[in-house]
Formats: sequence, structure tokens, C-alpha cells
Amino acid sequence: MALISVLCFSQMPQMPTKAQQEAYKKFLGLYDSLTAMQKVMFFTEVKHIMDPEVKVIQPGATDNAAPSDAIVLFDGSDLNKEWEESYYRFGGAPVVKSPVTWIIKDGAMMSTSSSGSLQTKRHFEDFQLHIEWKTPSVITGEGQGRGNSGVIIDGLYEVQILDSYNNRTYRNGQAGAVYMQYAPLVNASRKPGEWQSYDIIFTAPRFKDSTSYFTPPRLTVFHNGVLVQNNVPVQGPTVFPGIPAYDVKQHGPGSILLQQHGNPVSFRNVWIREL
Ligand code: MG
Repeated sequence: MALISVLCFSQMPQMPTKAQQEAYKKFLGLYDSLTAMQKVMFFTEVKHIMDPEVKVIQPGATDNAAPSDAIVLFDGSDLNKEWEESYYRFGGAPVVKSPVTWIIKDGAMMSTSSSGSLQTKRHFEDFQLHIEWKTPSVITGEGQGRGNSGVIIDGLYEVQILDSYNNRTYRNGQAGAVYMQYAPLVNASRKPGEWQSYDIIFTAPRFKDSTSYFTPPRLTVFHNGVLVQNNVPVQGPTVFPGIPAYDVKQHGPGSILLQQHGNPVSFRNVWIREL
């Protein structure tokens, strides 16, 4: 009997502190009517659904505004704090330059005709990114030559930016596409010259070995608040032309790159939450 008591006692979960007990009681109006045993069970059972308390943050004033736990990457002021310029080619080593040659106009940042792409100085793994972008109101070019840019995660995985309003091109190359891999679920484009938004949730890959994923990168994308990519498994780095899965190379956290594709696309209100 004594042995059973010792065993039972040794397996009992650790009791909450006095302060935790007082906090828990608030969530059960009938606490005082419980038996002694029920009170013990209440504390041990309820602890795992009460602790740890979910972290409290301050959401933005609007759903587009940065919450308190976000890193603001661009708020209309300084370009050089968070960004550097990268003369980037798929498959080639980028050449990084600072200060950047992109300009700020009317609170938005945009490349010049001689600029390279822009990339974050910080490296990120899993994240939620908010970014707003605008293609020129005066339409020039067609297909891939009209308002082309892109959010290239880790410098490898491109979420396409394009003026896809009445601008037919290949389906996995239009706005909201995981470029050359997944067409968007719908075309939620606004007219050229109007601000648009992406909210991107990225789960970084975990690697099995130097040339293959254990779990592939995952992308969820909202375009103007509309779900266009639903947790899709990315097949490999963006390549054009080619087959992505052939080019997988092990990597760690990386920059987020805004593609300079020869079209004057503007960006504003860029923030990110590390997950
Ligand atoms: Mg692009």
C-alpha cells in the first residue's frame, strides 16, 4: 500500500504555483464546490490548457499595418537600413552593392533603369510577409514585359509580380504565381496604377542532404486579401527554363529579394513577422 502511494505520488504532475492556482480559479465558477480530490484534479488537468499564456501583441490599426512584433522593412523613409542592392541572376552568384540606387518617390520605393534588384540585409527562415506593390498606370509592353517584378524568397523561390489585369500570359507566370510552378488559384489583380498587396506565409525547407529536401518549402499567398496559393510545396528554386527539382542545393535562412526586371514597379509598407 505504501509502495503504491509512493508510486502514485512520484507520478503526480507538478502542482501549479499559488499565483497560477488563483488565476485558474477564475475560469471555473464552481471551483469552491469541488471536493478536495476534484480540486487537485482540476489544477493538474487545467494547467496544460492554461500555460504558457499565449503571447500578447498589438495588432496594427488596420490589417495592412504592421503589428507590434513585426520587423518593418520599409515604411517610406530609409532604404539603406534594411536593404542592399543585388545584381542577381538565377543560378549565378549575386553581386551586392550598398548604398542602393533605388529611389523613394511619394513614400514608395522603386528601381531606376540601371538599378539591380533589392534584397534584405537580414536573413529569414519561416515568416509572414506583407508587401504592397504597384505597376505603372501607363501600360507599356505586354505579357511578361508589363509590370514584371517578383518577391524572391531566399533569393531562390519567386512569387511573381506582374500587371495581370487584362494581360494574358502563361498561367504559372502571372501575378500570384509561384513562378513556373503554380498558377494562382484565381486572378485577383487590380488595375495598373492601383496599389495591390501580397501576404505571404513561407515555411522554409528542411533538408535531407545537400541536394534534396526532407520537407520542401511551403508557400501560402494572399493577393489583395484573396487566397491564391494554399500551402503549396515548392518543387525547387525558380528556374527558367528548366525543371526546379533538379537544382536543389542545401541552404539556410536567406534574404528576401525584390526583382528588378526592367519595369518600374513601386513598393510600400513592407513588414515581416518571423514565425
Ligand atoms: Mg518576375
